[in-house]
Amino acid sequence: MTYTREEIVQLDKRYVWHPYTPMQEYIEHGEPLVIERAQGSRLFDQDGRSYLDGNSSWWTALLGHQHPRLVAALKAQADTLCHTALAGITHEPAARLGKELVAVAPEGLSRVLFSDNGSTAIEAAIKIALKFWGQNGRPLRRRFIALDDAFHGETLGVTALSGVEVFRRPFADVLMECVHVPVGQDGYERAFAAAERLLREGADEIAAVVVEPMLQGAGGMRVYSAEYLRRLRALTQELDILFVADEVFTGYGRTGPMWACAHAGIAPDILCTAKGFSGGLLPMAATLASERVFDGFLGDASRALHYGHTYCGNPLGARVALEVLAVYKDEQILEKAAPKAEKLTRAVEAFAGLPGVKSVRSLGMLGAVELEGEASGYLGRAGWRVYEEAKKRGAYLRPLGNIVYTAPALNIPDADLDELLFIFSESIRAVLAR
Ligand SMILES: *Cc1c(COP(=O)(O)O)cnc(C)c1O
Repeated sequence: MTYTREEIVQLDKRYVWHPYTPMQEYIEHGEPLVIERAQGSRLFDQDGRSYLDGNSSWWTALLGHQHPRLVAALKAQADTLCHTALAGITHEPAARLGKELVAVAPEGLSRVLFSDNGSTAIEAAIKIALKFWGQNGRPLRRRFIALDDAFHGETLGVTALSGVEVFRRPFADVLMECVHVPVGQDGYERAFAAAERLLREGADEIAAVVVEPMLQGAGGMRVYSAEYLRRLRALTQELDILFVADEVFTGYGRTGPMWACAHAGIAPDILCTAKGFSGGLLPMAATLASERVFDGFLGDASRALHYGHTYCGNPLGARVALEVLAVYKDEQILEKAAPKAEKLTRAVEAFAGLPGVKSVRSLGMLGAVELEGEASGYLGRAGWRVYEEAKKRGAYLRPLGNIVYTAPALNIPDADLDELLFIFSESIRAVLAR
């Protein structure tokens, strides 16, 4: 590349509309990192300065950047077949990935629908649930239940499930019906009782319950009780309501086990995966369904799931996703992450109870510190002050409002993790000391 940093930023500010970004402020004052390359746990800018990647590039690069086996798989696939439709056609990467994914999935999930990203994986789940009931004897089941503070992506369909006001409110009048239930961060019993009442009363009209199991990501890195999750799943089984686990963030070991559902010993009817699924190399997602759900679409042509995305099953993505699973096995990624997760937990727990700290939480390779701040929710500013401090010290720690978190690669080398946690802690301390 031959453009200077200034030239790139100038072009960017002239042409690029950034996600989740107040663009006026950005154009007037924004100083973006201009990243040229990445390696392992680090992003490198144009001047060769490195930044530890504190959120594994939006929770995707769970095996670090440029993992040699993933890059090699991508290159090998690019040499033979980059893309073809998946209708009336199949190919080895998609077929094998289907098998390997089912092999590691929670029990009972046996069919795989591919798509491009987390949002489409949930969107597919919603449409599957609606059409399933529509043609299998329960046509009144059109509503959804989701959790307070839920985040399930950005399409209009899944925006209905969102419990994050900033994302949901502008569209509230055009969204499908979804009722949000509390999870009860401190003590789940009252929250569960409220959810139970709602489900029992509305069972005839509820298509599915959709949850991020154990850990809610973009809604504020909130951890809730495994017992709540277990009982909610049991209730949906009793009432025969579909249960959808959105493991887009929590899957692939983020919370410890391969799937966060394992904390509660449950298996959903439908499971969605993306993000770490393709190791942070390519946009790729999958919606897994039970045989019962799949069977609900057999029969004449009108019963089929008339749904798909242009790039579904993309051979490049599928080949990389296969390699991701092989690396997890060969390099014992989950086992080796366990002691790293303990370090991370200790680092955030050191902030519990300090003045200026609202709460701390951690689960697996996720640690979060919520600061007191003037505005609350997604528009809080306290986290951004930590972000600036961390940037000066060589780490990228994009916050969620007043919530500072780190969700590094699962295989981050110990020395890099120590450095990241040191910068994380020092940056928070610097802000608290102001
Ligand atoms: C990121 C995320 C999504 C949306 O995924 P995209 O790939 O951004 O569309 C959905 N659900 C959860 C839990 C997520 O964290």
